[in-house]
Amino acid sequence: MNTILTKDELDKIKYSIENDSEIKPQYWLKLGYRSNSPPREYVALRDLVRWSIGVAKKFDVHVKPWPGIETSPDIRLHIHVIMSANKELPLEFIREWHRRHGDVWCDIYDPSKHAVHYQWFKHQYEEVQVICPRKKSSCRRKRCRYLLHNL
Ligand SMILES: [Zn+2]
Repeated sequence: MNTILTKDELDKIKYSIENDSEIKPQYWLKLGYRSNSPPREYVALRDLVRWSIGVAKKFDVHVKPWPGIETSPDIRLHIHVIMSANKELPLEFIREWHRRHGDVWCDIYDPSKHAVHYQWFKHQYEEVQVICPRKKSSCRRKRCRYLLHNL
């Protein structure tokens, strides 16, 4: 079920990650599970979204995770994530994943490095929309400027 992206598609994704005017890539993460029976991929994606909602609320920041999920049954399940946000995220944002799920490897996102091409060359591409902390009154009134469809 792994979608193989072409070099061209990866270049386009890299461009959209790096050229949003407000939501900027900050960290490159590898999120692991300490459990001996790590969850299925869709559960890992749900874990990522739930954790990101917590991060958005705790730090009052709009985040957009760009995940790539390991799909090989021979490799322990993990998720690579380029984490973008509309303001600076303190490094402690990774603590909650570590506490609940497992190890976190974290690097500063560097456009000159190979994160995008590494991440989606061998991992399943998934799309997650911007996650809003719903703190500003416009956000609470479903007029978040970062969301196209604020349901
Ligand atoms: Zn918002």
